[in-house]
Amino acid sequence: MVDLYIKNGKSVTGEPLEVAIEEGKITAVGERLAVEAKEIIDLEHKSFITAGWIDDHVHCYEKMNLYYDYPDEIGVPKGVTTVIDAGTTGAENIADFYQIAKNTKTNVYALVNISKWGIVEQDELADLKKIKEELIHQVLKKYPDFIVGIKARMSKTVVGENDIVPLELAKKIQAKNEHLPLMVHIGSAPPNLKDTLNLMEQGDVLTHCYNGKENGILDEEKNIKDVVWDAYRRGVLFDIGHGTDSFNFEVAEIAKKAGLVCETISTDIYHRNRETGPVYDLATTMEKMLVIGYSLQEIIPMVTSHPAKAFHLKGKGHLAVGMDGDVTIFNLENKEKLVTDSNGFTRTATECIKPIYAIVGGKKYRAGGEQDGSLRKV
Ligand code: ZN
Ligand code: ZN
Repeated sequence: MVDLYIKNGKSVTGEPLEVAIEEGKITAVGERLAVEAKEIIDLEHKSFITAGWIDDHVHCYEKMNLYYDYPDEIGVPKGVTTVIDAGTTGAENIADFYQIAKNTKTNVYALVNISKWGIVEQDELADLKKIKEELIHQVLKKYPDFIVGIKARMSKTVVGENDIVPLELAKKIQAKNEHLPLMVHIGSAPPNLKDTLNLMEQGDVLTHCYNGKENGILDEEKNIKDVVWDAYRRGVLFDIGHGTDSFNFEVAEIAKKAGLVCETISTDIYHRNRETGPVYDLATTMEKMLVIGYSLQEIIPMVTSHPAKAFHLKGKGHLAVGMDGDVTIFNLENKEKLVTDSNGFTRTATECIKPIYAIVGGKKYRAGGEQDGSLRKV
């Protein structure tokens, strides 16, 4: 007898799909399982079943003043089973974050900011003395199951006079840790996007890829810059990182038409852009990608297998026997909804993605409902 049997669901391509979970792991996946179970969720052929959604760019260390939130506000109530905090904390405060994060219902991982206190102030990389390389190596060694990479924010307000130097230091730190993922935030110059991209290698993650700023991926004629194509072709991974200020419909549409597609879809969510928009949650960001022309079949890997691969999350990202019992169940509703990007431009979505359940390690949480995302264990 299994612990949880999810029956009469469907895959993203519409085929019948059922999943069984036992002792926190997926033990069966198929069109029709007919297993005995302690608990059954019957989806009556209406809802989709996917691997648990992963949002690889969030801010959820509650003790910060600038960008903070709570894992169990942005996670399971939103249908997201796993979040990766993108550099809210640095080597000197990530231990405290770990203590909080290990007790949450939502799976939490973190990228350690190369600046020692993370984003305590907006300009965390304006003083290079805050990059304590030895401390970073120490925390990477101490929390290998929590810290899955490093983060460098490379834009004018963050780096001050330091231009590209913080990224050079980040690459140096990365080189001493085999296959360590690196996420790089981009924004206004300096540093110039060209210099940032020239330092990035295959597997490095470029977040805020479709921002609408002058120093973004498009030139003045709204064509994709050559240096961007070069980075894309050598395997730099493009991540949405929507945020308050970093997602522009037109940029995303031009990129999609040109064949430059993102690898991962993430929110850059924190309390303010969750409560008052334009982010709200991962599902809303996914709806925007539907509007831009990505299909549901393209979108789901971007919140499951792709982020799991980019950040080496073992046991995550796939609905397969032996994987962690992390599952997201959602409906697709034909309904018009006005969606807004970070620059105030709008589009009308005709399909809404409504998470119903988030299942984490076989534990079931009801998702959706109230916009305030209050958590209800069921
Ligand atoms: Zn950022
Ligand atoms: Zn961020």
